[in-house]
Amino acid sequence: MSKKILVLPGDGIGPEIIREAVKVLELASEKYSLGFELVEGELGGAAIDKHGVPLADSTLALAREVDAVLLGAVGGPKWDTIDAAIRPERGLLKIRSELGLFGNLRPAILYPQLAEASTLKPEVVSGLDILIVRELTGGIYFGTPRGTTTLENGERMAYDTLPYSESEIRRIAKVGFDMARLRSKKVCSVDKANVLASSRLWREVVIEVAKDYPDVELSHMYVDNAAMQLVRAPKQFDVIVTDNLFGDILSDQASMLTGSIGMLPSASLDSNNKGMYEPSHGSAPDIAGQNLANPLATILSVAMLLRYSFKHVAAADAIEQAVSDVLDQGLRTGDIFSPGMRKVGTAEMGDAVVAALAKL
Ligand code: NAD
Repeated sequence: MSKKILVLPGDGIGPEIIREAVKVLELASEKYSLGFELVEGELGGAAIDKHGVPLADSTLALAREVDAVLLGAVGGPKWDTIDAAIRPERGLLKIRSELGLFGNLRPAILYPQLAEASTLKPEVVSGLDILIVRELTGGIYFGTPRGTTTLENGERMAYDTLPYSESEIRRIAKVGFDMARLRSKKVCSVDKANVLASSRLWREVVIEVAKDYPDVELSHMYVDNAAMQLVRAPKQFDVIVTDNLFGDILSDQASMLTGSIGMLPSASLDSNNKGMYEPSHGSAPDIAGQNLANPLATILSVAMLLRYSFKHVAAADAIEQAVSDVLDQGLRTGDIFSPGMRKVGTAEMGDAVVAALAKL
C-alpha cells in the first residue's frame, strides 16, 4: 500500500508552520516505522505565482494519487486584487470539491494549561471539548447563480445562492452521528430553519438520519442562538453539525474559547476517509515571515492525519501528548502567551514538540 502524503505549504505563515509540522511528521514516520513518502506542491498564491492558477492540474492529479494532503494556509494581500475566479481561495475550494472532501472536522479543545489564554472565564471553558462537523463542499460557497449585476436604476447588486440537496445533508449528518457515537452521543444540529428554505430541508433530513442512531441524542438550534450559547455556556455542546457557512463562522468563534485560533486543527474527509488536514486559521499575513506564528494547530492536524487517514492511534496520541508536554514546560507563542510563561517563536515551538515526541 502506498503511503504518500502531499504537502502544500501555501502562503503567508503557511511555509513556516508546515516546516515544523513536517519535522513532527517525519519523526513520527521514523518512530512508528510508517514509511511515509512526502511530496511537495503549490496551492493558492504560491501556485498563482508559479503556474498562473491557484491549483494546477498537475497538483490536483497528485492530490488524487496520494493517501492524504497536509496543507498550511492560502491567501494574502499580494493576490487580493486579482480576478476573483483565480484568487488563492478558489484553489482551496476547488481541491476540497474535486477530492469530494465534504466532511470537515474541527475540534475545539481547551488544553488545561491554556485556560488563562481564553478570553472567557476559566470556569466557563475549562474542560471544553467540542467537535464541529461542518459541511464543506456545498451551500453558499459553491451555489450558483452567483455574481454582480446592475439594476435598472443603475444601482449595483450582488447575489449568492444557498442550495443543499437531500443527499448532501444526509451524508454530513451521518458523519456527525458517527462522530457522536465515539464521544458523548450528543449531536446539536445548527441551522436557520425559521428563515431559510435550505435550513428547513436540513432539519427534516437530519431528523430522518437520527432514526438510524437511536442511541444518540439530537437537538436543534438556530445559528444565532448557537453563536450566543457558544460564549454563554459552551460546555453544553459535544458534536455540532452544521452547514458550510455557519460552520465556518462558528468554528472560528469556538477557536477563541480555546485561547487562540493557532491551536485548532482540522480534517476534511471524503466518504473513504481520504483527507486533507490543515489548521483552521488562515495565512495570517500580518505575522508572516517573522517566526511569530503558532505551529501547534498544524502539528495537531498531523495527529488528525495519522488518526483518520492511517488509523494510527498510537502515533496520533503521542503527538497530542507531545504538544501537551510542551505546554506543561511553559512554552508559548505570542498568541497564547500569558505572564510567567516562556515566549518562543515558531521554530523553537516546533523543535520542542519534536524533542517531546522523541522522548515518548
Ligand atoms: P487569519 O486566520 O489568517 O488571521 C486572523 C488573525 O489570527 C490574525 O491576527 C493572525 O495573525 C492570527 N493568527 C492566525 N493564525 C495564527 C497562528 N498560527 N499563530 C498566531 N496567530 C495566528 O484570517 P484573516 O486575517 O481573516 O485572513 C488572512 C488571509 O488568510 C486571507 O487571505 C484569507 O482569505 C486567508 N484565509 C485562508 C484560509 C485557509 O487557507 N484555510 C482560511 C481563512 C482565511
